[in-house]
Amino acid sequence: MTRRVLVASRNPKKLNELRRILADAGIAGLEIVGLDEVPPYDEAPETGATFEENALAKARDGAAATGLPCVADDSGIAVDALNGMPGVLSARWSGRHGDDEANNALLLAQLADVPDERRTARFVSACALVADGTETIALGEWPGRILRTPKGHNGFGYDPLFLPDTESRTAAELTPAEKDTHSHRARALRALLPALQSLTTP
Ligand code: IMP
Repeated sequence: MTRRVLVASRNPKKLNELRRILADAGIAGLEIVGLDEVPPYDEAPETGATFEENALAKARDGAAATGLPCVADDSGIAVDALNGMPGVLSARWSGRHGDDEANNALLLAQLADVPDERRTARFVSACALVADGTETIALGEWPGRILRTPKGHNGFGYDPLFLPDTESRTAAELTPAEKDTHSHRARALRALLPALQSLTTP
């Protein structure tokens, strides 16, 4: 029997990422559906102080509204020279939600005088699963540094400025498959696999 699992997102890339990770782990019997495939419900704004709080709130809302097991994530970039900011404010760092170009320009301006050795940063993702009265949270991190000019056209957000520690190319120069292997979100989702696997057993 197949069990439907809601991913609290409308982003097909996020849905497919989880589908690929489940397939790679040999976990069958879960059908991943997105917010567009369930009746609409009130989605609370992300007001938490941490990635974990935001991910858990979204997963609780989704599970309560639909009765389905629900996976939700919250992610962003934490820059050491900015004491971990933009952090949970990554999507709206420049003041406008989702304006990647303005967010990147502001970050570069803020770091203009920060020397190379102090431009360390990490992408962080918290993924939460709420199912059958159980809550599981996993955190994934992808360490690297912030360059001085954008490079590459793949990906989104801060990818063109982010050089992962183990790479000679920015996150925006990696193929989607390469990014999937290393990214903060993939790491967090992989850490949720045991909890997802347990949904397939009666
Ligand atoms: P969300 O939680 O996936 O909506 O991401 C919040 C924000 O964090 C995005 O708007 C981006 O600015 C940033 N972000 C999260 N993950 C990534 C990534 O993999 N690459 C680049 N930027 C990211």
